[in-house]
This record gives sequence, structure tokens and C-alpha cells, in this order.
Amino acid sequence: MTLFLKQNSSNKIADRLNLVGSKIACALSDRISLCNKNWNIAEGQGLVNGKTGATFNGRVLLWNCKCRLCAFCVSSISTRNRKISNYIIENQPKETYFCGRYEVPYEWRFVVLTMPDDALIGLSLFHQRQVFYHAWRLFSTKSEYFKKVVSGGIKTEEFTFDSAPNPYHYHGNLLLYCQFLNQEQFKKDWTKYVKASFKHFGLSWQTPKTKSKLLNVYLKRVVDQRVNEDHKTLLSVQNAVKYLCKYVTKSQTWEDIPLSDLKEIIENRRFWRMFEPFGSCRETAKPIRPKAVKTPAKPVVIVNPRAGEIISLLSNGAFYVHSPTINATTPIFAPANPAHAPPIKPKKKSWFYRISNNLITNEKYRNELINNFIHIRQFRIKQLRSLYPTAKFRMLDGAKFHGESCICGACPRGY
Ligand SMILES: [Zn+2]
Ligand SMILES: [Zn+2]
Repeated sequence: MTLFLKQNSSNKIADRLNLVGSKIACALSDRISLCNKNWNIAEGQGLVNGKTGATFNGRVLLWNCKCRLCAFCVSSISTRNRKISNYIIENQPKETYFCGRYEVPYEWRFVVLTMPDDALIGLSLFHQRQVFYHAWRLFSTKSEYFKKVVSGGIKTEEFTFDSAPNPYHYHGNLLLYCQFLNQEQFKKDWTKYVKASFKHFGLSWQTPKTKSKLLNVYLKRVVDQRVNEDHKTLLSVQNAVKYLCKYVTKSQTWEDIPLSDLKEIIENRRFWRMFEPFGSCRETAKPIRPKAVKTPAKPVVIVNPRAGEIISLLSNGAFYVHSPTINATTPIFAPANPAHAPPIKPKKKSWFYRISNNLITNEKYRNELINNFIHIRQFRIKQLRSLYPTAKFRMLDGAKFHGESCICGACPRGY
């Protein structure tokens, strides 16, 4: 999507959230609009990759709303998940099993778990998700077959939206590190646990209209080579990761979803936990999953950021340096230059918590958001100038700033 389309799509969603009318929806709308403002988006020229030395142009958001409905942030969420997926595939410890007398290696398989669309007519998106999620929990923890053949994997959820009768098609995508999969057995068990989930939620079950009277489960072997996207039984690693990390980004979808469904999904934060490594893959992913990184109380090492390093700002005011030259498992917390450190603020409850518990009004929150943004903007500009000392940045609102060792002689001032 082009820059303009992204902004346009996010702004439409922000408008629609205002129509929802709840406090959370209004706050979310404020956050998404802020993220998409011209004065939040910079185009950088002559950025240098610290690893390869290559020069590139890039777009930077000074502040991120981190919402999946935001056209900018959804792409960074999907990039992060692609990175985690690729890391897991590359670093997964090899396993083998015995098939008769032969020792056979575990393999990657891509699986699509479907839901009975007809039986879900009339249920909101959120409820359909609940039914799916409960079935998945049962399937992955109770099915003896699943536990025997699957070592681990990554689960993502996806839905498509079209016109009636059931406008949503909710399904799960799995990338499994597993033994040979018996499709019939897989279908049987998946159907069994979806049925159990229906019962759990008091929904009436209808036998699927498929030939086998079981829910469809699609299986593909994931191979390390280029494969045509339409291949019946094979999928390349690249495509598997692509399907796994594809999220709803079309504003059309968010425009068509009834407001009541939109309200329900934004007010349930857990809805968005759609990307989930599990089993042995969860272990494999530990070094690069942000949750695994514990923030030490004090900064431990002082480093100077070099080109290519990305510095994340943590809520306690510390930095987290992601460096191409430092092992990704070693977090380094240090402001390179104390003057660059953002003001350390006492730890606050999340905006979501405070709004939903009436600790702050929407009006006050809007002011707080803008004030925070002003601080973060100053900090981020300093950070970008020192990370990319020779680059030139231009904000979409026309403001400019250059890297700190720029020699153009006409470096814009005022930021
Ligand atoms: Zn955003
Ligand atoms: Zn300059």
C-alpha cells in the first residue's frame, strides 16, 4: 500500500471508531489519528545499514500507536512476526522419529484448520473467535494424536469477511514441526474438539456437509525451495511464513464490519493475540520474543549506538539496543549519551486500563497523548540524527532535519 493509501485507510478507521462511541474506541481513534499525522512520519534519505554499509531510503514513524487497525502499525506487527517465524524455522533443534526400522526427520507442515461457517451464522466475530480458540486449546492439549506427532509450531488466526449468511470465515493457520501427518486422523480430532467447543458455549452442532462429515483440514509440506503458490501439496518456506503473518489490512474489511462487532473486538485486548508460537517452537523463539527480555533495574553497559542499531525505548526509561554486531540474546541497556535519555517517568498503568477503569477522561487522555508525543518526538529526532549521522530526513509536513555529521552546510535548524 502506498503512503497515501495507508494514511487514508487509517483515518477512515479512526473515523469509524469514533462512531462506535465508547471511551476505548475514542481513545483508540485518537491514537490511530496521531500515528498517521504528517508530523509523525519522516522520509529518510541516505540511511546507512550498519551491517552491510549499504545506503537506503526509509520511512520512520516517530511514534507508533501499535494498533492492528492502523495501516502503518499492522505492517510492523507483521514484519516482527515474520522475523520470529524465520528465526524459529532456522533455529529449531532437529528431531527424528522411528517409522518402522527407519529413523526419519521431523518436517515443517502448513495446516489450515477450518470452522463450520453455517453453524456460526449470527454470531459476532468475537464469539466466533472464542469458539475457535477454545477448540484450538482443547485440540492442542487434549488430542493424543496431536501431542504424539507435533513437537511444536506457530498458530495464527485469520478471518475473511464477505456478504452473508455468515459474513466471517474464521480459520486457523498452523506451521507445525512434526512427524508425518495423517490427514484423516487430524480432521477427526479437530472436528471432535470443535464440536466440544460448540457444546461448551451452548451452541447447536450441525454435522459438516463435507463428504467425510468432518471439518476440512488442509495440509501442505513446507519445503526449502521455490514452489508455485498453487501447488496442491507443497509450499515454500517463504510462502508459509507469508500466509502465517498475513493480517487484515484492507480498510474495506474494517469499514464493513458492524460497529457492534468492532466495539466488541477492540474492548477485548486478548483478541489480538493471534500469533502464538507453542510447544518446542515457543522455546526456540525465546531469545527474540520481546516478552522473554526482562528489564534489569539499572543500565548495565554503556555503548555508543552505531549505524544499523535500533534502539527501543522501554517504559522505565531504559534503552534496549538491537545491534547487528551484538548477539541478539544479549540485551544492552544504556543511553549512549545521557542527554539523549528520555525523561524517566514513574511506571503508569496502561492507557487501556486507565480508560476502561474511568481513571482518566478521554479529554485528559488526549492531552496526555499529545504531551507525551512532543517529548518522544524530540527524543526520537535526536536518536535518528545520531543513528544515521549522514542521513537527511524530511517530515511529511515539510519540516526537515539532518544527521549530526551532515556536511551539507545548510542543515535545517529548529527541531
Ligand atoms: Zn499506528
Ligand atoms: Zn545537512
